[in-house]
Parts: sequence; structure tokens; C-alpha cells
Amino acid sequence: MKIICIGRNYAEHAKELNHPVPEEPLIFLKPETALIPRRHPFYIPAFSNEIHHEVELVLRICRPAKKIQAKFAYKYYNAIGIGIDFTARDVQKTCREKGLPWDKAKAFDHSAPVSPDFIPVEAFPDVRNIDFHLTKNGRTVQRGNSGDLQFDFDRIIAYASQYFMLKQGDLIFTGTPAGVGKVAINDVLECFIGNRSMMRLNIK
Ligand code: ZN
Repeated sequence: MKIICIGRNYAEHAKELNHPVPEEPLIFLKPETALIPRRHPFYIPAFSNEIHHEVELVLRICRPAKKIQAKFAYKYYNAIGIGIDFTARDVQKTCREKGLPWDKAKAFDHSAPVSPDFIPVEAFPDVRNIDFHLTKNGRTVQRGNSGDLQFDFDRIIAYASQYFMLKQGDLIFTGTPAGVGKVAINDVLECFIGNRSMMRLNIK
């Protein structure tokens, strides 16, 4: 399986990093090794002094999709979870300055924990109005709603599937709202969809 991620998909987050909101989706990949086994902590890697949390709604693809039109995209995901797109911001800055790809900053081991449970799409009255948030040590640090996405779920699937064939079990990280920040040893992160706690993660 593969993990597809969308960058700068909430205008307020693009702004906080001083980036323009992109005119087409900004897309990157993470490998399967970016997942974290259930109940394992996240260990801050030795190569970074600035690991940022980016909480994101995650789509689970349920059937093969190639060059899908946006109007049919809803048929290709059947569940929504939540994940953290861990980013080595210092490494990313260096890569960007040198004009190099970001993979070391984004696709490293355990950089994409996702909730053990996904919520079936039918359980949401409206996928364009899903509240989610992240707490760090009990305090809310990021809060988002899928209605504020620059490119909504259907457009993301349509766009990504023009380049990459999606397969059952692939995951799509849909972008992070404002409030990204650094994690430190002993932090506890907790991700919520609505009021439901979906994942708790200890930082080591
Ligand atoms: Zn992200």
C-alpha cells in the first residue's frame, strides 16, 4: 500500500508557513514504513531537532481507481480516519533551500501514524462538514473542518488518480489546518473526529 499526502490544503496553514495557497493540489507520497504499529509511541528521530505535528483527516481507498472524475470519486473511499503527518521541518527547510525533494523530511519511518479505527463514510451526515482537532498534553493546538479544504476529497482523488493508480487500502492524508508545531519528548498527542478520541500517541 501507499500513502498519498496533500500539502497546503487549508489556506490558514499555508499562510502560517508563508506559502501561497497552491492553484492545484500539492502532492507527495509516504511509504508503508511510515505507519506506526498500534499502541507504539513515536520516537523523535536523531536527524531532526524540529519535528512538527500536522493532524489530518485520512481517506481509505476501497477499490482500484485510475483517472477518476471528481463526480465519481466518492465511490472510491469508504472510511475516514485521522492521522498525523509528522514533518522534520528543519530538514524540509534545508531540502527546499537546495531545491531537493522533501522525502527525508516527510517520508521517514513512523512519520504517518493513523487511527486504528476508521469511521464508515455512511456515518457522516456530510463529508464536507467534518470537525477534527488535535490536543497536545490536553490542550487543543489544531482544529479543522473539511469544509475549509482548498481541494475537497473528490477533487483530491480525481487529481491524485491522474498520476497514481489508487488501490484498495491506500490512504490519503488530506492536508493540515493551522496550528502546526514542534513536539517534544513526553508530549502526548490525541486526535479527535468530532468529540470522538481516535488516537493517542506518546512522544519519546
Ligand atoms: Zn501534511
